[in-house]
Amino acid sequence: MEQQLLVSSILRHAERHHARQEIVSARVEGDIHRYTYADMAVRARQLANTLDDLDLDAGARVATLAWNGYRHLELYFAASGSGRVLHTVNPRLHPDQIAWIIDDAADGALFFEASFLPLVAQIASSLTTVRHFVLLADSVPDSPEAAAIPGLVAYEPLVAAASSTYDWPDFDEHRAAALCYTSGTTGNPKGALYSHRSTLLHCYAVAMPDAMGFSAREVVLPIVPMFHVNAWGMPYAAAIVGAKLVLPGPDLSGPALHELQEAEGVTFSASVPTVWAGQLEHLRKLGTSPSTLRRAVVGGAACPPAMLRELRDVHGLEVVHGWGMTETSPFGTAGVLKAHHADLDPADREAVQLRQGRVVFGIDLKIVDDEGVEQPWDGVTSGHLMARGHWVLAEYYNRRDLEPLVDGWFPTGDIASIDADGFMMITDRSKDVIKSGGEWISSVQIEGLAMSHPDIDLAACIGVPHPKWDERPVLVVTRAPGVSLDEDGLRKHLVGEIPSWWMPDRIVFVDEIPIGATGKIVKTSLREEYADLLVAAGA
Ligand code: AMP
Repeated sequence: MEQQLLVSSILRHAERHHARQEIVSARVEGDIHRYTYADMAVRARQLANTLDDLDLDAGARVATLAWNGYRHLELYFAASGSGRVLHTVNPRLHPDQIAWIIDDAADGALFFEASFLPLVAQIASSLTTVRHFVLLADSVPDSPEAAAIPGLVAYEPLVAAASSTYDWPDFDEHRAAALCYTSGTTGNPKGALYSHRSTLLHCYAVAMPDAMGFSAREVVLPIVPMFHVNAWGMPYAAAIVGAKLVLPGPDLSGPALHELQEAEGVTFSASVPTVWAGQLEHLRKLGTSPSTLRRAVVGGAACPPAMLRELRDVHGLEVVHGWGMTETSPFGTAGVLKAHHADLDPADREAVQLRQGRVVFGIDLKIVDDEGVEQPWDGVTSGHLMARGHWVLAEYYNRRDLEPLVDGWFPTGDIASIDADGFMMITDRSKDVIKSGGEWISSVQIEGLAMSHPDIDLAACIGVPHPKWDERPVLVVTRAPGVSLDEDGLRKHLVGEIPSWWMPDRIVFVDEIPIGATGKIVKTSLREEYADLLVAAGA
């Protein structure tokens, strides 16, 4: 039997087989909203009729500026399911970049949350393609900001007025379902377009036991934003297994997340290290552990060893380190151990857990040298990480001029090693790698080690131009509140743990390290700030 792999089939399945399962959302309005997959399916059909009424053609891009919540979820299913393209826009980008992205995608409608009224009011007049502005709320407020947005309407009355009868159309699974832009730390962002087929295969992979391990018995809290690579596919993966879904809304602080996890019996959570750090700080203050949480996925940036230990040893969580990127939908690897790892001594087992993990079926990796020659999987040799698979992009959206693939593989821009079991470890982003006297120094390892000092909150290691060695490492750190650790103290902590020539030339204590729109450290601005540090000092 041939059936197209369509996003609407996820919704049909969840409605028929997990109708009573709950979806709980912390709303921007400040309260908790709860309903079921069956309720969501009804509203998604109403929304699909609304999109028809708004005269958005098949294939039209429907943009969102929204938190993790039920209305955003309805847009996920209604936009893609009806044959349109869901375009999730990252509200943390600069307003000019947001306007550029919406124009580049030629979005026909923009659905946005009340938090972003000032932002949308600021950019509305420069958006050339958006014909419909829809506020995800009960009504449009009587405010100068709302008045500045042409034809602004509220979501709830539109949806309420629409019929709940809608036949999800059948079409070719290779059609586009969703669009995400890379974060664009260098130059303008580029769009990655996901097909229905790639989205379906990706969510199967995400749900697998050796990936995120979802089931109908799990309570899943995706902290990773639905505006950043579709929350790592979790909204879809939760729906195919019928997991209870808990969506945290705008407040991602340690206290808010802990309260929600406890109230809803959350068993699974996934986010970037900076957000986990906030949760751990709160748990330390309370002197408590989560009572229902069992599994923690840490991804998007390297999981510092100290974070792994605290989550695992203090809070008893199974920690899964994950890697992926916008161009890989994003799921690439997960650090779920194999049976024989149980025989390793704890230090060796931990070393495996700290690697970014291994692929599941559907994606493949290799590492190559500068000439493109494949490198051995010995766990030590590093090279340029290349990926291919059912959910890896072939080209960027509207950028036929770029040819991202090399011999059918996507160069990820990461530098990694792979061990004999296929466990990949990122040593650096190729643009972040520090090249001292022609040899590579791993900034990721130095950062992880620095953050394993209890007095260090955050660490960023950058390559700074040096008259003799081309580049030398400079370590920029923030201290935990109320401690007085100095440079000497931190150096002592690093001695013996890294090769002596990796020792940073300078350690700089700062109040704040810049964090970008996807929760990762912005090393480009640090590199600019400290560009002259070693030259000026005549080092
Ligand atoms: P983005 O496309 O914004 O999701 O960024 C993808 C990039 O984030 C990857 O190419 C890696 O450089 C980095 N990244 C993602 N996960 C990890 C991880 N677990 N450890 C280290 N770097 C990571």
